[in-house]
This record gives sequence, C-alpha cells and structure tokens, in this order.
Amino acid sequence: MKNAAAPTATAEVQAADFTALQAKALLVHARLCAEYGAPFPFFSTKDPLSELISALLSHRTKNADSHRAYQELRATFPTWEAVRDAPTEAVQHALRACTWPEQKAPRIQAVLREISQRCGSDAPCSLDFLAKMPIPEARAWLESISGVGPKTSAATLLFSSLRIPAMPVDSHHHRVAQRLGLIGPKVGEGPAHKLLEALLPPGWDAQQVYDHHEALMFHGQKCCYFSGPACGRCVVLDQCPFGQARLGRPA
Ligand code: SF4
Repeated sequence: MKNAAAPTATAEVQAADFTALQAKALLVHARLCAEYGAPFPFFSTKDPLSELISALLSHRTKNADSHRAYQELRATFPTWEAVRDAPTEAVQHALRACTWPEQKAPRIQAVLREISQRCGSDAPCSLDFLAKMPIPEARAWLESISGVGPKTSAATLLFSSLRIPAMPVDSHHHRVAQRLGLIGPKVGEGPAHKLLEALLPPGWDAQQVYDHHEALMFHGQKCCYFSGPACGRCVVLDQCPFGQARLGRPA
C-alpha cells in the first residue's frame, strides 16, 4: 500500500510546488510591472513576415545595430521577393551593421524561399493567416522553418501586428527567471519558453504577456545585470534565492 500511495503523494507535492511557482511568477510580474511602468507600449507595428526577418536579424546583436541593418535592407530592396532573389553578397552588404551578416544573409534568403514554396506563390506570402491558427500550431508552423526557434516564433506572433499572446524569452528574461528560481539552473533559453509560459494564466492577452516579458527584460537590463546584479535595491529580492545567497541572507 505504501508503494501505491507514494506516486499520489509525489504528484500532490509537485502540484503544490507548481501552484506556488505560478503564484510567485504573478507576484514578480506585479512588482516588476509597477517598478518599470507597465503597460508598456508595443515597439513594433510590422507585419508578421517583416517581424520574422527582423527577429532573425536581432540574434545576438544589439537592438540599435539590428534596427540599422533592417532599415538598410528595406531601403536597398523594394520587396521581400527582391531580397530573396538578390545576389547573397548584396544582401550581406545591406546587413553589414549587424553581427554575422555573412551567415544572416543566406539564412534570410533561405527562409524567404521556404515561405514562398509553402505558400505556393512566386512571392513570399503574408503570414497573416497565422492569426487563424491555435497558438501552438502557429508556433509549430514557424519553428518548422530551418533556423527559426521558439524565441523567433514568439517574437513574430507577439511583436508583429498580429499581437498574439506568445511569450519570447531573451537572455535577460532567462537570466532573471533562473536567478529567481522560476526555472532550474540548467534550463536553457529554448526549453525555458514552455516552462515559463506554463506559469502564466492561460487567459492572458497579448498586452499582459508583452508586459511580463518586457518587465523581466527591463529588470535584467537595469538591475539584475549579468555580472554584479544590484540585489541590494532589487524589488524582488525577497523572492530570489540567488540574490539572498549573494547577500548572505537566509533563504
Ligand atoms: S535579487 Fe539580485 S539576482 Fe535576484 S532578481 Fe534581484 S537583482 Fe537579480
């Protein structure tokens, strides 16, 4: 009988732990949103295809540099079809403001070719149809394109004019969530997407999901630095085992 009861007890403990984690995520959300002034205005009104390309350019690049590269790409080529069919060196030249243009140029052209093929049209089609899919299907559609991962798929759906509540996890967001113990210390950025999204209420709209992502990202940029986080002035210190251990306080 002992053996039969053990899995139930374990499941109950796990469910209680998960509920506590959800409550913690909401508390952190409320404090950081208040600290950084949510609701945050959306920074982009791009259509989803343009947002996808912009997100691919932003990988491991400062925002200002990827923005300059995106602007130069749009100024050089009148359409996405023209980007797809241009000599790769010309695309690479247009992208010179961002990191690794020699890798990003052929990747972007391959993505545009693949989307054209899937749409069965000469030009890469609009991705507005993703709005009609359930979110997991829309994400899977995007992530089945080579080079598109969970951060890019979520950014495409959330940041674009579609405004679909899918949550990207960038390096700041990931670091803050890890230090707070919302995810384990060995969970990478990719797998963190599903785990962190599961902590949010399922009925949250795009603005709420956006605010959550932005608040954790701002916290990573303005307080929870990669090296030397400012734990002494952190509004979620009481929730953070990493910060409490750094400051020598009992958890
Ligand atoms: S207490 Fe320190 S480590 Fe924890 S979230 Fe705040 S700044 Fe980051």
